[in-house]
Amino acid sequence: MAKQANSEDLEIITSPLLSVLKDLHSKYKSLREGAVANYIPELAKVNPDLFSICIVTVDGQVYEVGDSQQLFTIQSMSKVFAYGLALEDHGRDYVLTRVGVEPTGDAFNSIILDEQSKRPYNPMVNAGAIATTSLIKGAGATERLNRVLDMFRRYTGHDVFVDISVFTSERSTGHRNRAMAHLMLNFGMIDHNIEEALDLYFQQCAVIVNCHDLAVMGATLANRGINPITGERAVDHQYIKDMLSVMYTCGMYNFAGEWAYTIGIPAKSGVCGGIFAVVPNQMGIGVFSPLLDVRGNSVRGVEVCKELSRQLCLHMFECKGGN
Ligand code: GLU
Repeated sequence: MAKQANSEDLEIITSPLLSVLKDLHSKYKSLREGAVANYIPELAKVNPDLFSICIVTVDGQVYEVGDSQQLFTIQSMSKVFAYGLALEDHGRDYVLTRVGVEPTGDAFNSIILDEQSKRPYNPMVNAGAIATTSLIKGAGATERLNRVLDMFRRYTGHDVFVDISVFTSERSTGHRNRAMAHLMLNFGMIDHNIEEALDLYFQQCAVIVNCHDLAVMGATLANRGINPITGERAVDHQYIKDMLSVMYTCGMYNFAGEWAYTIGIPAKSGVCGGIFAVVPNQMGIGVFSPLLDVRGNSVRGVEVCKELSRQLCLHMFECKGGN
């Protein structure tokens, strides 16, 4: 259902874009609803006022406002990219035996598996993400971590690092995630050492990015897997539709249906306060603002994306050009 952009479309979309972003930034700067995530103690230290919006087009143009260089940990947004790597390592059919693609309507950290198949519901909830990460190939923990970091390097266009404080903070308090991993071990959904799978999952969540990176990563998915800034392929193009489909149906926690209905583009958020969205063949969008609503989505991030979708006519199923 991807909309094909021609150069004329891009011209119309990009020329007034910076002023659109500036207007949205100043409009929503005063919105101070929500609360920062605190269940990972280290995340609670973030400055709640931080706010940035960035768009990168598939032809490599960058539009950014606010604290776009501010670093934060990628958290749940990493799940999309890890899913792509697991698909590359094993192919679609095998990955589907381990992780489903059904939305749950439940919170991201629910301890539930599909009754019949015993699979986690989808790769965007924690259980499914832990199962996905356990599929990433490598001769040992270091090689697997290096493959994950190299994957993020391809998407962002620069070397990335793990925030050790956030990693150890989540590792020592992530009892729910540990419980899910044990449940999946019980049902044979995770093969190898679960502590190692959890470590890699916590490390991938603690990868350091900024809002600019989110938009570049989104633009890479919008650009059939090729980073529009570096020209490097980040992921095999055949898996992009799988990644975007689960983002579209499951990417925004238990707000995913309403997001699809009103905003209508694949997106993923994280408890850090980031949201990245993909407009296939056109652009990647990144928003960062740490104040979260009750479902775990950035309050300003959702509002900004709503307005961008409306003003730039981004909804996937928007009928353009009259009746
Ligand atoms: N590392 C976080 C967790 O597993 C990611 C949660 C999120 O961003 O939704 O709880």
